[in-house]
Order: sequence, then structure tokens, then C-alpha cells
Amino acid sequence: MKIITSINEMQQLSLSLKREGKRVAFVPTMGFLHEGHTSLLREGRRRGDILVLSIFVNPIQFGANEDLDRYPRNLDGDCTIARECGVDLVFTPTAGEMYPPGFQTSIRVRELALPLCGASRPGHFDGVATVVTKLFNIVQPDVALFGNKDFQQLAVIRRMIADLALPVEIIGLPIVREADGLAMSSRNAYLSPDERRSALCLSRAIHIVRERYAAGERRANVLRDEALKLIAAEPAATIDYLELRDAATLEPATDASDTTLMALAVKIGTTRLIDNTLMCDER
Ligand code: AMP
Repeated sequence: MKIITSINEMQQLSLSLKREGKRVAFVPTMGFLHEGHTSLLREGRRRGDILVLSIFVNPIQFGANEDLDRYPRNLDGDCTIARECGVDLVFTPTAGEMYPPGFQTSIRVRELALPLCGASRPGHFDGVATVVTKLFNIVQPDVALFGNKDFQQLAVIRRMIADLALPVEIIGLPIVREADGLAMSSRNAYLSPDERRSALCLSRAIHIVRERYAAGERRANVLRDEALKLIAAEPAATIDYLELRDAATLEPATDASDTTLMALAVKIGTTRLIDNTLMCDER
């Protein structure tokens, strides 16, 4: 496994591998790898001749008062996990390499990036779309893998790929959860033991809504109220948003159907966690 920090070296290597007819699979991450990431890497290993992992805590997708400076990092640990998953190349540039002085270009996806995380984190998806485009230009992947954990992010990326005719196949994979239901996230490392217990209110809210949906409830406001009530009962939790929306357009839903998304962002203490489900998700 080779570790690369230079854009030029990564790009030249990818281009020459592709000239040899190799299929490049790519998993972009911010590191501090967990089983959500390794599920993407294992699927990438199956889909490509060459598997590239990027580890880059992307400053332009963080707001001014967010956790950029304390975002967890562990490059050595990540490299051990990457080796176990059969990664060939780890691309881990510095912020200065990706955004040298004078950098001033941005990719913006409009409507899909406005609600939910786009509303609570202004500019976030511009940062995501811009870095993903740049990483794609550097890594030149045939296929790239993302998690449904960041459902809106995946929707924004799919839209961008279609709108800009980028020649990359996008694969979305299911949310990987801890045994008790908590969606895996690098940010779970911030949680104290008490907060870790409180954080279960997110997956419990999903669970109760799915149960009510399976039992025939279709009124989105009733389903939403069930989830809100459950989270309101958790003193450590502050709701950022909790909404039912159409999974394709992210427009608000009034009547739930199998393709309705429930997405939520909840602060547990100072840690902001996100989770989501489709009404038709297998559990
Ligand atoms: P991150 O390092 O948090 O930026 O995530 C990198 C990729 O891993 C993104 O495509 C995420 O959606 C995906 N991911 C993160 N957590 C999970 C999870 N629990 N299950 C599935 N995919 C995940």
C-alpha cells in the first residue's frame, strides 16, 4: 500500500494505471476510519482493480464555529485498517496542497443543497461538491463509493455528476450501525459514556417511525411528532432538524410513502449527530 500526499503524483499514477486498462475504485473520507468506511472499502475492492482511499479533513466544508480543529485524526490507525481492506493507494494531501494561496473556485448544487444540513450548515455542500470534484479530477476514478449515512451529501453528489456529465459511477451503500443501533460516525468519539447512551435517541426515533409506518400510519406530521416526542424526552438532546421529505427531490412530504426519507440532526451535548432512514429501508 502506497501513501501519496502530492496531487501531481496521485494524478500521474492514476492516469498511467488507467492507460494500462485498470479500473479505479475510490472511497473519499475524512479518516478516523470505522466499519461504515470499511464497508465502502470492501465493496470498492470488489469493484475495482485498484482501490484508492482518500483521507482529507476538508476545511472548506466546515463552518467557522464547527469542529475542524478538533476533528479526530489517526493516520497510522487508518493505514492499518486500509491495508486490511486491500487498499492500494492512500491519498492524503495537506490543506495547503488542496487549497494553495489564490484558490477561488467553487461548485454549487442549488435546490438539493438548501434544506436539512444545507440550512444548518451554510456553505457546507459547496465545500463538499468542490472537494469531491477536485478529488475526482486527481484520482480519476471509474467508480466511487459513498454511504447513505450522509443521504443529502449523496443526493448532491449524484446531481452534480449528472449535471456536469462527470464520467464516474456512484455507488451508495447502507448505513452501518453499532449493535445497539447508533449509526457509526467518526464524531461518536466525542461522546462521553452518558452522551453515548443519550445518542441512542436518534436510532430509536427512526425505529419508532418505521414501526408506525409499517403499522399503516402515513401522515407525515404524525410520524414526525412521534419522533420529536421521543427525542424531546432525552434531556441531553437538542434537535437541529427532524423532517420527512421526498428522497429524490428533498421536498417536504405530507403523506409518507416507501420513498419518503426521514432525516434528523441532533446535538448530544456539543456533538452534532445525523441519521436517516427511508420508510422502505430493510432493518
Ligand atoms: P466521512 O469520513 O464521515 O466524511 O465519511 C466518508 C464516507 O463514509 C461517506 O461516504 C459517508 O457517508 C460514509 N460513512 C460514514 N459513516 C457511515 C456509516 N455509519 N455507514 C455507512 N457509510 C458511512
